Formats: sequence, C-alpha cells, structure tokens
Amino acid sequence: MKLERRAAGDADATDEFNDRTHRDDGASVAAKLKEGLTLLQELLYCRLHGDVQRFVGKDSMLVPLSELKAQLEAKTETAIFQVVESHAAAAAIGVIEPQDPWYLQWLACVLLGKSMVDAEMRAKILEYAKKPPRRRLLAFTNVLARVLPESRQAPLVLFTLFPLSVHIATAAALGDVGRATALRKQQTDHLAAIDDCNVCKGRPLKIGKQCPKCGNPLWKHQWLVAD
Ligand SMILES: [Zn+2]
Repeated sequence: MKLERRAAGDADATDEFNDRTHRDDGASVAAKLKEGLTLLQELLYCRLHGDVQRFVGKDSMLVPLSELKAQLEAKTETAIFQVVESHAAAAAIGVIEPQDPWYLQWLACVLLGKSMVDAEMRAKILEYAKKPPRRRLLAFTNVLARVLPESRQAPLVLFTLFPLSVHIATAAALGDVGRATALRKQQTDHLAAIDDCNVCKGRPLKIGKQCPKCGNPLWKHQWLVAD
C-alpha cells in the first residue's frame, strides 16, 4: 500500500469521506471519530501512567525525564495505532475496502492534523497496517513500554481491551450500533466485570462519554483487576 498526501482541513476531510464512501455524513463521522478516539488516547494514558503510579506504586527509576514530552509522545503513538485499528474496523463494517489505504491517511489527518502527518508517520502507519492484529498490538505495547516504562506494570487485559474500544468507537461513529454492541460482548469475554457496573450496565456509551463509576469505554484499574 502507498499513502497519498491528500486530505487537508475539515471541509476537505468531509468531502473526501463522502466522495470515497458515497455517504453524506462525513462531517459527523470525522467529528465523532476525533472525539471518541481522543478520549481513548487520554484514558489509555491515564490507565498506563496515573493509575499505575497510584495503584502499583511509583518507582523513581521509571519516572520519565519529561512527563509532558512522554505524554505527548504516548498520545501520538496511540493515535497512529488507532488509525490502523479504526481502518480494520471500518473495513469489517464494509464502509471501506480492506486493501484501500485512503482511510489511513484521512484519519491520521483528522486525529493529528495534516501538518503532523509526515513521511515518518506514514511509514509507521504502513508498518502497523502490514501486521496481523496480534503482532500489531505487540508492536504497540513495545512502543508504549519505551515511551512509558511504567506501562509494563499495567494489567495485561487493558491491552486486549484497548483495540476493541477503538473498534467500538469506530462502529459508533459510523452509526453501526449493533456492531458496537457485539464488540462490547467480545470485551466482556475478556473481562466479565464489565457487566457488573450498575451505572452504565457495561453498555457502549454515546461517543465522548465515559462512565464515572467503572471508566467505560476504558476501565479503571480496580475493574481491570476485578476478575
Ligand atoms: Zn460503568
């Protein structure tokens, strides 16, 4: 696959999505993907950094030199991984062709801004896109371990749940509620405690929302270690 350099501002992103998919909801899809996936970037950073330090203990050897720099890098690396997972989710729904790479470049620009999507980032995206899901996830956790050494202490189930949360956010943004519900069921197969929350009942939430009790769409530390 080769990525094109196309895609620019909001209007261009809307037009490109509508042209490519023959839909008319490009503006809404782009806004929802940005909102849902940005929330997941923030929650993953919180689970890997704040939660781990709070519940597992702070090891001074593991504190990054610059926390802000590490946070930005972690969120950027997460966005790159999300682009490829979201591409797979959109292909599974049938909105795009699995081998058609336009969505990768398109979503990278939506999430990170066109100026950030340079040759190095395009190469990273294509590197992930070449890998099957498990290898992709392993590569991502290795990147996180370098950027946030404390992420090695996070509960392993978090890394299994995260790509599925990206797929759910993508299904919700594309309006496929049934698919989002089916994907949530896959998550409860990995973490049964998801169903135990008496606030959200483990259901997929509206884009950009999170459950104050359990942390759905990416669960708090106590829930990850509940099973
Ligand atoms: Zn909940």
